[in-house]
Amino acid sequence: MRHLVKLVTFTTPDAPGRDKLGRINADGQVEDLTAVVGDRTLLDVIATWAQLSPALIASTGLPVAAGARLRAPIPQPHRNVFAVGKNYRDHITEFGRSGYDTPDRVEIPSVPVVFSKVPTAVTGPRDNIDAHPTVTKELDYEAELAVIIGRGGRGITREQAMEHVWGYTIINDVTARDLQRDHQQWLLGKSLDTFAPMGPWAVTADEVGDPRRLMVHCTVNGEARQHATVADLIFDIPDLVATISAGITLRSGDIIATGTPAGVGIGFTPPRFLTPGETVECSITGLGTLRNTVR
Ligand code: MG
Repeated sequence: MRHLVKLVTFTTPDAPGRDKLGRINADGQVEDLTAVVGDRTLLDVIATWAQLSPALIASTGLPVAAGARLRAPIPQPHRNVFAVGKNYRDHITEFGRSGYDTPDRVEIPSVPVVFSKVPTAVTGPRDNIDAHPTVTKELDYEAELAVIIGRGGRGITREQAMEHVWGYTIINDVTARDLQRDHQQWLLGKSLDTFAPMGPWAVTADEVGDPRRLMVHCTVNGEARQHATVADLIFDIPDLVATISAGITLRSGDIIATGTPAGVGIGFTPPRFLTPGETVECSITGLGTLRNTVR
């Protein structure tokens, strides 16, 4: 049975500081789930999904939240977002010849390149991306499928991995290329405030089905920049879950950004970095669209 569940975290104009949990109804409106889940956050709900989901899925007649403003579905991850570099072949080529890798290299990694973004980088699906003009001159975008872990564990095998996936969302892995290059370790260049737009929804794995069929698409000011299928991942989701969990206990609510396809700003000659006023849209089949303007 397929459960149509698109969960959101939102605020309303009368309580802009209070995050609430909702779901998107058939008309695209936000239904307030407070009557079902109380004050639980999405992290709480994912952690107790087996117990909570029957009532959540069966609930009807929920009030539509007027003036709802979407936040990231998980506005405050409980720890860093795991992320994966160089996981689409054409992107490895463009990155390797851009002069931004150290040293320049275009070969396919033999194991996944895993890094992380700090939780405070997360921002909402319609929020502005801060240009940080005093910190970086080379702002870039990376549209990515993000996996949300349901049941945690260590030593999860490839074969078991999909049983640990609760669902999916979109992350724009915004990157300061100069910081990424100059500091060699990627944490700073990937973690500035607002560098992880997330959302607009968190969608359960059973609704998504086979993630390999999903298309990742990115535009800047309406111009197509990235377009790829998740089937092209070099290290697929089971690989990533198995690799990370080999020695780190994955926890419910952990997020893994799976990597970006070709078409980022440094892939162009000369590079096309984001500038204030430009709007980046990242879309994935069935997962909605992130729409963030650089300010
Ligand atoms: Mg990335």
